[in-house]
Amino acid sequence: MRARDCKIVATMGPASDAPERLAMLIQAGVDCFRLNFSHGAREDHARRMDAIRAAEAKAGTPVGVFADLQGPKIRVGMFANGEIKLRFNDIVTIEASSEPGADGLIRMPHPELVNALEVGDILKLDDGKLQITVTGRGRTQLEARVDFGGTLKNQKGVNVPTRRIPISALTAKDREDLAYALDLGVDYIALSFVQHPEDVHEAKALIGDRAGIIAKIEKPSALTQIEEIVEVADAVMVARGDLGVELPPEQVPIAQRKIIRTARAAGKPVIVATHMLESMVEAATPTRAEASDVATAVYQGADAVMLSAESAVGRHPQSAVAIMDRIIRAVEDDEEYWSSLPRDMTPPQATTADAIALSARHIADVVGCAALVAYTATGSSAIRVARERPRCGVIGLTPFINTARKLALVWGVRSMVTEDVANVEEMVAKADAAVRKLGVAETGDRVAVIAGIPFGRAGKTNTIRVLRLE
Ligand code: PEP
Repeated sequence: MRARDCKIVATMGPASDAPERLAMLIQAGVDCFRLNFSHGAREDHARRMDAIRAAEAKAGTPVGVFADLQGPKIRVGMFANGEIKLRFNDIVTIEASSEPGADGLIRMPHPELVNALEVGDILKLDDGKLQITVTGRGRTQLEARVDFGGTLKNQKGVNVPTRRIPISALTAKDREDLAYALDLGVDYIALSFVQHPEDVHEAKALIGDRAGIIAKIEKPSALTQIEEIVEVADAVMVARGDLGVELPPEQVPIAQRKIIRTARAAGKPVIVATHMLESMVEAATPTRAEASDVATAVYQGADAVMLSAESAVGRHPQSAVAIMDRIIRAVEDDEEYWSSLPRDMTPPQATTADAIALSARHIADVVGCAALVAYTATGSSAIRVARERPRCGVIGLTPFINTARKLALVWGVRSMVTEDVANVEEMVAKADAAVRKLGVAETGDRVAVIAGIPFGRAGKTNTIRVLRLE
């Protein structure tokens, strides 16, 4: 069977973390797992990480893992009675305090938010089910009018689509979770509620090269600087859960398309996430609309699609993965996909490595290569080749298991750990052995190999060699 190009991410949770279940999920097609630090104890994540690595060893294929930090999720405080009622047109008071609120008084343990709000700002409460608009501000308190009423319970989430909040993307909890996740050896850290490129810089200063950074795009303010954020991140996620609260629903598909295009142009992997097969939390099959949603992300050129509750707490995690796999394969079998896939995004001022990647794809098209092999230390040259969306698979050969695991998130790339090569003969021999072992090419097939010569130096891709397997 042809390898699938678009990758599958599954969120870990009680429904997926039993060792035998994990093995089945990898077999069904999971390429990368997400440890969601918004839920569960740190020890749960450590146990899951051990189980993933054990399942990876059994499967014999590199599996990626990322830790998704909770980020500065803003919440209302507690209420003396556990909840209050908000009625249309009522005026309520908002105050920064950790004390419990009461009828007509919402308290929030976030002074930076209360200080930043101005008349006209909109607050969406409980995933947008309720909404209030700021109508007045005093020195320590705000007044707000209820636009959509209902029951507001303790600690429900607050989204402010109208304003950039002067708050770091890393809370104290995130910093502790980050250190813990890096010690576990995750391949990427996903940063929640990124608002501007400085949030990514701040995380990078702490992470260094111990993991890649996935910037989750879930705030309208991030959309206004999307090029700059994509530039500094290693990958991005279209985090449609919170994005869909902050933006009107009709704007979410437009934002998704823009984020994918921007990431594709920059050659950064992009994941489309949240509610992809949501009905499968309960049901054994997805709705037709959900199948269409996954297919749309694939047609748009996403590197990966993600399962959240479906695999973390759902009743059918394995079927959800299998169905995602089938939807992706069906799109990739459609000629229309290949003819409409946004390609040729390499700008004229591209690097030598970009030009080599583009040329390798042209060569593969012209002479019909069975695979493109990229020797890669950091993963960058395999990612550059994948960005060109070649029809034949991309094989990343790397001396580093961490690089192989990172590439699990990247469209079209399968990777293998091989020892560094010392000369062209070894380069050819190892590429030949790898493509045969992975079953992507056989005697008589052509394969294009890209590498940096002299060998052993990162970031020096400068050579294409076309071989015919003998
Ligand atoms: C999202 O909001 O879509 C998302 C992936 O983030 P989280 O599940 O952490 O809210």
